[in-house]
Amino acid sequence: MNMGIKLVIVDDAPFIREVLRHIFEMTEIEVVGEAQDGTEAVSIVGRLRPQIVLMDIVMPKMSGIEATIEILKDLPDTKIIACSTLDQNNMVMRALESGCCNYISKPFKSEEVLAAVRSAAEAGHKEVGP
Ligand SMILES: [Mg+2]
Repeated sequence: MNMGIKLVIVDDAPFIREVLRHIFEMTEIEVVGEAQDGTEAVSIVGRLRPQIVLMDIVMPKMSGIEATIEILKDLPDTKIIACSTLDQNNMVMRALESGCCNYISKPFKSEEVLAAVRSAAEAGHKEVGP
């Protein structure tokens, strides 16, 4: 079976972080940390080295786009999934250009979130080795 997938949740809204945490309960996906802005995201991801990051785009201090660029400089194998609202299409384009591997839209549907995380983890696994 799958090894556990370690994931960090980044969003400035506590409610959104709670919704996401709830989606991963009783799955093989382990939420190892949370951050509420881009600066915190860069430091927590640097310390915890999760395979996957769910990255809100619009946040105070440092945006998800800037945080993605910073994280991928040091940890290029990290799979970062952008989290956007449906009216943020330009932002999604910029997030993908900055290195996010995929995106999911709010309001979140559990199956979509889980599918995005699992496929990102799978892609990361294939890159790592035979
Ligand atoms: Mg936000």
